[in-house]
Amino acid sequence: MSAVPVEPLDSLQAYATATAACTRCRLAEGRTQVVFGAGNPRADLMFVGEAPGFHEDKQGVPFVGQAGKLLDGLLAGVGLAREDVYIANVLKCRPPGNRDPQADEIESCEPHLFRQIELIEPKVIATLGNFATKLLSGRPLGITRVHGQEQELTIAGRSVVLYPLYHPAAALYTPAMLKVLEADFARLPAILGQEKTPVVELVPEPAVVAPAVVAPAEQLGLF
Ligand code: URA
Repeated sequence: MSAVPVEPLDSLQAYATATAACTRCRLAEGRTQVVFGAGNPRADLMFVGEAPGFHEDKQGVPFVGQAGKLLDGLLAGVGLAREDVYIANVLKCRPPGNRDPQADEIESCEPHLFRQIELIEPKVIATLGNFATKLLSGRPLGITRVHGQEQELTIAGRSVVLYPLYHPAAALYTPAMLKVLEADFARLPAILGQEKTPVVELVPEPAVVAPAVVAPAEQLGLF
């Protein structure tokens, strides 16, 4: 038997390679390339944005434009770098003119996102904006209602904490929203920490048996 570990065929890299040729929806026609995702394939924390924009489509990496720079800054503020987390989008291909994702495109693309989640096994998924939040929460509640409220959910067969955040692109132009995004982001280490806190089972100490104190009356009775 070989002692060399064999990389499973369904690794994230193998899945990314297969996805590079995806033609599940019309966005395949206009894209430069599929923007699969980037970061640590074993990350505890995964971010899910909306869709690649102009720069992401050209470079093949999510969040490399202005919104990405803001995301980098927010990560640095909580002591994290891109290499510590995994970053993906609901759609893997750029919608023309950066228009909103359409329902049938989301439906076509969602198996890719769910497979990524299955393979990465993150403990916390931070959704950036409405599209990722609605898709992964399975609820129609908008980001203004639910941002900053973590909830435990079963996604791709595993229990994860979903943590909805404002989309950095929206926060770029709205200072009040940026303040909220920063405050929500600042809670990420605690949410990750809570998740990682080992459950210590409290085993009761064996009862200390006190030496028998013989009542004076009994002592007297001995004689
Ligand atoms: N906005 C997104 O939602 N994703 C990107 O990758 C870039 C901008």
